Amino acid sequence: MLGLMQNEPLLISSLIEFAERHHGDAEIVSRRVEGDIHRYTYKDVAARARQVANALDAMKLPQGDRVATLAWNGYRHLELYFGVSGSGRVLHTLNPRLAPEQIAWIANHAEDQVLCFDTTFLPLVQAFHGKCTTIKQYVALCDADKLPKDSGIPGLISYEAWIGAQSSTYHWPSFDENTASSMCYTSGTTGHPKAALYSHRSTLLHAYAAALPDVMCLSARDAILPVVPMFHVNAWGIPYSAAMTGAKLVFPGPAMDGKSIYELMENEKVSYAAGVPTVWQMLLTHMKAGGLRFSTLKRTVIGGSACPPAMIDTFNEEYGVEVLHAWGMTEMSPLGTLCTLKNKHLDLPADEKMKIRLKQGRAIFGVDMKIVDADGKELPWDGVAFGDLYVRGPWVVREYFKGEGGNPLVKDENGVEWFPTGDVATIDADGYMQITDRSKDVIKSGGEWISSIDIENIAVAHPAVAMAACIGIRHPKWDERPIVVVVKKPGMEVTAAELLKFYEGKTAKWQMPDDVVFVDAIPLGATGKMLKTKLREILKDYKLPNT
Ligand code: ADP
Repeated sequence: MLGLMQNEPLLISSLIEFAERHHGDAEIVSRRVEGDIHRYTYKDVAARARQVANALDAMKLPQGDRVATLAWNGYRHLELYFGVSGSGRVLHTLNPRLAPEQIAWIANHAEDQVLCFDTTFLPLVQAFHGKCTTIKQYVALCDADKLPKDSGIPGLISYEAWIGAQSSTYHWPSFDENTASSMCYTSGTTGHPKAALYSHRSTLLHAYAAALPDVMCLSARDAILPVVPMFHVNAWGIPYSAAMTGAKLVFPGPAMDGKSIYELMENEKVSYAAGVPTVWQMLLTHMKAGGLRFSTLKRTVIGGSACPPAMIDTFNEEYGVEVLHAWGMTEMSPLGTLCTLKNKHLDLPADEKMKIRLKQGRAIFGVDMKIVDADGKELPWDGVAFGDLYVRGPWVVREYFKGEGGNPLVKDENGVEWFPTGDVATIDADGYMQITDRSKDVIKSGGEWISSIDIENIAVAHPAVAMAACIGIRHPKWDERPIVVVVKKPGMEVTAAELLKFYEGKTAKWQMPDDVVFVDAIPLGATGKMLKTKLREILKDYKLPNT
């Protein structure tokens, strides 16, 4: 017998319709590429998203066709999120930090038909558009009178002229909630990138889950600043959850430096922010140098790579800001786990609570996870055993776009299919997961595994260390030994011997790095994460001491 409830499909258009109707005057504030601050409301977003939908209809762009963006976090990008997906097309957020050839490769693979780009990216578009075989319409995200002249891009029009010609009346179509809504390519550190193709259903379920109190805890009382780019897994789903909850949104545009972010946070009374650790490092350095305080920031979600304990401490103790450590991936829309305490932890001493907070957290309802050994056998949840982390759930990929890479799922003995994350983790008896490494970054020394994240966390706890990356170096006897590559804080000094001494008592002797290599900068990937593949290349001629 079927239930007798309405079978309303879960569609992205319903998010903006809801925000317009119930939170119509909640603000969206953006720092624009032009440098000024733009301010309007969900009511305006909704009207202009309908103009976007009409503009795509006017082009006769078929449902399912891809509309790409190359844009910062800003209001026009938000309109495209709703206008493109809501009208049944697929929003493809390209990552402008990739090389022109990579972008062209991805745009061709996705068969993008339209590309909307911020004018800061004009030189980039000029560098790759000749190689794009499917894009029919280029749209510059600017006013008609700001359209770059002699751009060399055929048929380039301004966004304002493009949507300005359209009515803001539009009836959002209804269709199967499993219809594709948006796509995001993985950064492809090995081989060609592959795309996760999200659906309306997966996006809406993820939006509900992300807003839960033990996840991002978003509400109509929040002012959210996603520093995480809208081209990095949909800014972790924040634009959707913000519309669902009616939260104010504050977009930093291209100004991602500590000073600009801080000013925006203070001026717009931001209560909640989200970003990768490298971005927060810049903000904290700026705050420290100027002796600044946050007057409204309460919580910040940090993920994308392991959040160093020292950063959690600084936010908590020096600024009274709660850090929510999150783990996820492009293939998971992206949220998988988030770290918040349970009721039984509330009376624990501060250092015990901190030990829990450092973990990547508990599974969000909707995501199931397990760790397995090399034979696929499930390992115990004792916080000690570590193995490959597998996940499943309605916002986890089933396969990649165009079937690239074959079937990624692994079947267990009950026929249940799991997605292998490529991460190695422990899970404790309370269900808190802790990543020890990406499987390709794990250091295997004398048959034992050393967690590069543990080694990095100790280094960044040293007051003179700004950033640290631990990599394995071939060793004739032990297979591999860890070294730590370090960037010092400006004006601070530490020697290799001092840093190695700093490890004493903090980790087992055999896990201590064999050497410290100081560098000016650690290469970062397109999503702001340390690029260990590049680092290994740079250090390919490096020789361990005493080998
Ligand atoms: P990529 O950067 O490879 O394109 P994602 O941006 O999807 O892919 O990154 C996903 C990966 O980032 C995870 O599999 C994990 O290795 C790493 N990651 C994400 N969050 C965390 C975290 N909080 N701690 C440690 N690693 C993390």
